[in-house]
Amino acid sequence: MARVPVAEGIFTWPSDDPRLTGSRCGACGIVTFPAQASCPRCASTGMAEHRLPRRGRLWAWTTQEFPPPSPPYAGPTDDAFVPYGVGYVELGDEVRVETRLTRTEGLEAGMEMELVLVPFRTDDDGNEVVTFAFQPVV
Ligand SMILES: [Zn+2]
Repeated sequence: MARVPVAEGIFTWPSDDPRLTGSRCGACGIVTFPAQASCPRCASTGMAEHRLPRRGRLWAWTTQEFPPPSPPYAGPTDDAFVPYGVGYVELGDEVRVETRLTRTEGLEAGMEMELVLVPFRTDDDGNEVVTFAFQPVV
């Protein structure tokens, strides 16, 4: 079974040290995730690819108790659905990223989190589709 990323250009792939790929404005320095073609602050189009720090701090979170609307959600539904954590992780002082969390319990505001790549679903070709999540650093 091959492993494939859930989307191109969201994170470095393949990689033993995965990083999210955002963008940084050459004019005002704001960092975005996902990458954007123009700056949401100053409207400059001088956005450059920017690899985000792998570790950050948990800012807020909740539990997704039911499958989100589909589309865009393309993961397991019905009996195959397993509730998962979602939250915001602040990476450095650069950007807050909306992300899956690898667990829903034992979380604390400000705890250190690390990017990991996790199985998401199996596609029609039998490939394991991989997405990103954050887990507490132990
Ligand atoms: Zn800007």
